[in-house]
Amino acid sequence: NKTILLASRPKGLPTKENFRFEESEVPALQDGEVLLKALYVSVDPYMRGRMSDAKSYVPPFEVGQPVSGGVVAEVEESKNNSLAKGAVVLGNLPWQQYSVHNGHGLTRINPDVAPLSYHLGILGMPGLTAYFGLLTICDPKAGETVVVSGAAGAVGTVVGQLAKLKGCRVVGVAGSDEKVAYLKEQLGFDEAINYKTTANINEAIASACPDGVDVYFDNVGGEISDAVYFCINKHARISVCGQISYYNNTRPATGLRVEPILLTKSALMKGFIVSDYASEFEQAARELAGWVKNGKLQYQETITVGFDQIPQAFLGLFAGENTGKQLVMVAER
Ligand code: NDP
Repeated sequence: NKTILLASRPKGLPTKENFRFEESEVPALQDGEVLLKALYVSVDPYMRGRMSDAKSYVPPFEVGQPVSGGVVAEVEESKNNSLAKGAVVLGNLPWQQYSVHNGHGLTRINPDVAPLSYHLGILGMPGLTAYFGLLTICDPKAGETVVVSGAAGAVGTVVGQLAKLKGCRVVGVAGSDEKVAYLKEQLGFDEAINYKTTANINEAIASACPDGVDVYFDNVGGEISDAVYFCINKHARISVCGQISYYNNTRPATGLRVEPILLTKSALMKGFIVSDYASEFEQAARELAGWVKNGKLQYQETITVGFDQIPQAFLGLFAGENTGKQLVMVAER
């Protein structure tokens, strides 16, 4: 039974050496416990924050202890009356092939609703992040211009499509020509910009948004965001969801002072953590599932196969190797 532990805290960009594999026997079950077989493991940008020991909204991973995160797992054996063998659950679980669990905090998944992996993506944390960050914070109106950075990722793809559903003009910013083509041709974005090859991001954003920007959903921060701030309209709404361009910085980022722009544009800028909206998750997940089912939301995953590939799949997030939600398939059901 393999487990992935945090071997050391990264300085700057994490590497495979920051992780360590360990083999152990699966312990015998006690009364009330279940043995979980990991099926899909989610790798997410926020885990970079947990690899460092800086104080944040989730406690850091401990060196020498398992890394953990969102996992879809199947109950392989059960001594727990409420979780029968064969049940599928979603939980915050260690990066481990088989884990023993007391059942608390696991969410049962109905395998008939959608493919199991969707519960780590569009119907799970990233989808809910898009839903609340865009619809609740920014309240986009038909005809408005919405810009989303990190547009081809798990959150960004949902944000852009939700904005299209609301009748907005949608501009995405992403890191390759393939992603730009995917956003425009598959997801119906009105414009998309490859920030890695654009000579002047300020001009690119300005020309993609001739009527200015009413809503900005920010997944990345940095120069892409600065370029958007120069274009915001009066009463713009800015949802600060992620700042991935800073996650590997070794010193605080510096740059544009955005306050004078917010002031003169009477704009709203709001940071959030998706768990702020936990009391509304059920209703939102139902709504997202409905849109997936009736084809109004398309969904893309990048699925890497094999437990041993988890660290590499995680590291790939910082190189833009994923389109849509990055997952690792560890075992078949
Ligand atoms: P993604 O699926 O979008 O994967 C990360 C993507 O970020 C990569 O594919 C890459 O795409 C892009 N990226 C990596 N480095 C940089 C960089 N230096 N500058 C610009 N883009 C970069 O991840 P998620 O959809 O899961 O998360 C998106 C953002 O939302 C993250 O910042 C994450 O931390 C945040 N988040 C926040 C939540 C909250 O509660 N507030 C909840 C969930 C996510 P590309 O090829 O375009 O560079």
